[in-house]
Amino acid sequence: MNILLVWIQGSGKWTQARRIASEYGYSFFEMGQKLRNFSELDHPRSMEVKTYMEQWKLVPDDLITAMLEHYRDTHGSDKIIFDGIPRSMRQKALFDAVFPTYFVVFLDLSREQAIERLAGRKIDPSTGESFQSDFIGDFSPFTGKKLIKRPDDTPTAVAKRIEIFYDNTLPLLALWAQEWKRVYTIDASKNVETVFDQLKVVLSAY
Ligand code: AMP
Repeated sequence: MNILLVWIQGSGKWTQARRIASEYGYSFFEMGQKLRNFSELDHPRSMEVKTYMEQWKLVPDDLITAMLEHYRDTHGSDKIIFDGIPRSMRQKALFDAVFPTYFVVFLDLSREQAIERLAGRKIDPSTGESFQSDFIGDFSPFTGKKLIKRPDDTPTAVAKRIEIFYDNTLPLLALWAQEWKRVYTIDASKNVETVFDQLKVVLSAY
């Protein structure tokens, strides 16, 4: 069954999602990264996507649907972990229409911890992978690339993205519960190993 990761920025989901993908054989669909890649393409709508992303606004739904449908057509027979989608009630409806079967894993982190983690994080520009403020070193241990601060990780942008999460994404949890979808809440304030141990318990049921 597919997994839908819901997380507040800074919860370390990239690390966890990659481990799930490699240890349990899932494909990884990361909406933000897919959009960043698309915004760099020579495509008539790339500039539009870039503009939305620079303003931390949600990219229009028709593009999101097109990307989901493309992924279903190319990876539909894989087990998939989704991250960064859906981020609103409307997106939930369009997501459910393309990928109806999934369970939800919520990586829970307080607003204060999320802000603190995001303020200090760096990314690998070649993959988009995040390294939290407690990561020591300037280079990715996986690709050897020099880590940089993500251009949209300014304090204002971080606060804005966290607000959007609380306003748009958090209410979805209640909706899934009403629909009897399985929602597993994991305490993401713990260290990477402990969080992964909690995830393993959830995955062992599938
Ligand atoms: P992220 O890397 O997840 O922080 O996403 C970076 C940016 O990509 C966001 O600020 C939005 O502009 C855009 N984005 C990410 N996910 C979505 C989504 N599900 N729907 C629309 N726009 C999105």
